[in-house]
Amino acid sequence: MRVALVGAGIVGVTTAYELAALGHEVTVFERRGSVAAEASFANAGVVAPGYVTPWAAPGMSIKVLRHLFARHAAVRFGGASALAQLPWMWRWWRACRPAAYGPNRAAMHRLASFSRERMLELTRSLRLDYEQMPGWTVLLRDERELRGAQAGLALLRELGVAHDVVDGTRARQLEPGLNPETPLHAAIHLAQDGVGNCRQFAHLLKAEAQRLGAVFRFDASVRSLAPGTRPALQLVEGSIHEAEAIVICAGVQANALLAGIGCRLPLAPVYGYSITAPLRHMEGAAHHAPRAALMDERYKVAISRLGMRVRVSGSAEIGGTLEHKNPAALRTLYKVLDDWFPGAVLVREAQAWKGARPMLPDGPPVLGESGAPGIWLNLGHGSSGWALACGSARVLAERLSGRAAPIDTGRLTLARLRGEG
Ligand SMILES: Cc1cc2nc3c(=O)[nH]c(=O)nc-3n(C[C@H](O)[C@H](O)[C@H](O)COP(=O)(O)OP(=O)(O)OC[C@H]3O[C@@H](n4cnc5c(N)ncnc54)[C@H](O)[C@@H]3O)c2cc1C
Repeated sequence: MRVALVGAGIVGVTTAYELAALGHEVTVFERRGSVAAEASFANAGVVAPGYVTPWAAPGMSIKVLRHLFARHAAVRFGGASALAQLPWMWRWWRACRPAAYGPNRAAMHRLASFSRERMLELTRSLRLDYEQMPGWTVLLRDERELRGAQAGLALLRELGVAHDVVDGTRARQLEPGLNPETPLHAAIHLAQDGVGNCRQFAHLLKAEAQRLGAVFRFDASVRSLAPGTRPALQLVEGSIHEAEAIVICAGVQANALLAGIGCRLPLAPVYGYSITAPLRHMEGAAHHAPRAALMDERYKVAISRLGMRVRVSGSAEIGGTLEHKNPAALRTLYKVLDDWFPGAVLVREAQAWKGARPMLPDGPPVLGESGAPGIWLNLGHGSSGWALACGSARVLAERLSGRAAPIDTGRLTLARLRGEG
């Protein structure tokens, strides 16, 4: 089938690869100059299916309110423009109810587990090297944080996710670079989860998709869509591209296109930040750096080792713009880096980045038909797009090819967001 795909973030690239692998003739349209230039550019890189859960969870609204008034807040409002997101926040709040959370959590975990399997399969069969490193450790600074982690631990047990709860001494053996002067009470360690460079993976998989015949058209901004038995898209520069199917992987900008086909998703940009810095060039510097990925539970900040660099990421900002970086959010990242790995990196060479997570209010992405003939969606992966991309791509490619989805996709369709699921 001739398939046109809009968006070459991690979701678009993995989808292009899977479609090409199933024998489709794929053309990708991307408005930027390369793959993974937006939300997939400098994310934390964590792939931990046990931690892929909806942000809309019971008790979260109280936690969010508490965070809003903290100095190193994990959640912030980006000024008056946050008011425009009130309808989204209302839906998020409603999705925090246990009756909605349970099925959403199960759907996300199922997809995340399948996605990791598919990522490992691709890594092995295509011999991909993208600075991947196994190990995910959640740092709990004191007894209170360990008590607070009990609900999450019960969930890991319920989902059958292999993990260890270790004391501070053992955690420091697992991650010997941790600053001995910062108190560490305990940690949750997931040996099978880990970290990898999402952008690098996207570049490698793009090359593999090209080998299978996929064509990538960069600096090609899609203006509008026309559904039908031969759906078409029109580029901003005017040319029209016809296909037999069109897949929208346009991340947070998707609604601008979907409006034209009468489909609107409750998608909001939830901004996050990262800083990436090279390891210090000195004897033994690597011993003071993280080995894999860690999460500071108090500040909800991830610290990831990516080859010879360290990336620190966090913050959830509702409202605001991509261009304006809040210095307070960046200060929190530097503080957490300094708490745990002081002197490990060349801070003066650090690069700061802000990205927009394409968030649906209740958690899982939407994969499948849009309701308009010939137009398919792979959208709304929120804070877990890297962890969910390979699985989502495979599910979409199988469905578009008229085959059964490899996992239950009941809660991954548009019907759920219309209250029919
Ligand atoms: C700070 C931060 C940390 C994160 N950490 C993690 C993590 O540790 N693990 C994890 O799993 N996820 C993480 N995420 C989430 C993850 O990065 C996103 O979910 C993922 O990148 C979304 O991918 P995407 O392909 O849907 O969107 P994008 O990467 O934004 O791609 C969409 C693409 O569509 C293109 N596009 C849009 N409209 C058009 C158009 N009209 N014409 C042509 N092209 C168009 C855009 O240019 C863009 O390239 C993090 C996100 C942030 C911000």
